[in-house]
Amino acid sequence: MPEVPVRLLIHGASGRMGRALLRLCAGRDDCRPVAAVSRTVGQRVIDGVPQFATTELHGVPAFDVAIDFSLPEGVGAILALCVERGAGFVSGTTGLAQAQQDALDAAAKRIPVLSAANFSLGVAVLDELVERAAGALRGWDCDIVEAHHVHKQDAPSGTALALGASAQRGGVEARYASLRAGDIVGEHTVQFSGTGERIELIHRAGDRDIFARGALAAAVRLHGRAAGRYRLRDLLFA
Ligand code: NAD
Repeated sequence: MPEVPVRLLIHGASGRMGRALLRLCAGRDDCRPVAAVSRTVGQRVIDGVPQFATTELHGVPAFDVAIDFSLPEGVGAILALCVERGAGFVSGTTGLAQAQQDALDAAAKRIPVLSAANFSLGVAVLDELVERAAGALRGWDCDIVEAHHVHKQDAPSGTALALGASAQRGGVEARYASLRAGDIVGEHTVQFSGTGERIELIHRAGDRDIFARGALAAAVRLHGRAAGRYRLRDLLFA
């Protein structure tokens, strides 16, 4: 545990994930939010945390790590601020274009960067299982079926694509199917089909807090590290 709580900037603070991050921060003594940034601002201070609009980003106080759960078009500005201030950058925003991934790589030469499509411990383990299964099941079909709430904008989900990349590293090319329905937090099924037999690996997220908890733990562990691009596995399992 750090001697002094890690100072966090929460970007996308008014969103579903931003609100979960701020609520869970209140129960921890290893980190504290010093700024909450959203597209627009109503109240200037909520629960003791100063609120800023994205247009006011340059006025935020000193922080150690920014945690970003916004939309792809919002990522560039907060990443640039982290580089300018020498702060760490943790992002859960999905649907990033290649140019945005390249910007993360460029920033990682100057600051520690972690971008993950899924901050749950269970999915980090699933990811490893998929790579191992694919390595042993060459020639089998691999289908990834994901389901999320109706507000989710990108499809297939970033998690499904990351699982597909793991299957590919194991030697199997995945296909994708997406469902958008009701208030489903997130479900991923990776199905390997051979002749006369089938394996299904399933992760179901019941609660958004699992992602927020993982992101907070990752931010605390990223603070003080050397510049570079980190994976969730490197921080949570270390
Ligand atoms: P949401 O729509 O509830 O909230 C989005 C937030 O981003 C709001 O605060 C909004 O003001 C802000 N925002 C929107 N456009 C912006 C911009 N241009 N600049 C700055 N801020 C902007 O969304 P959510 O459900 O909280 O999800 C946010 C992101 O996190 C999505 O990409 C989602 O897919 C992803 N997500 C990732 C994980 C994970 O574990 N990695 C888990 C859940 C959600």
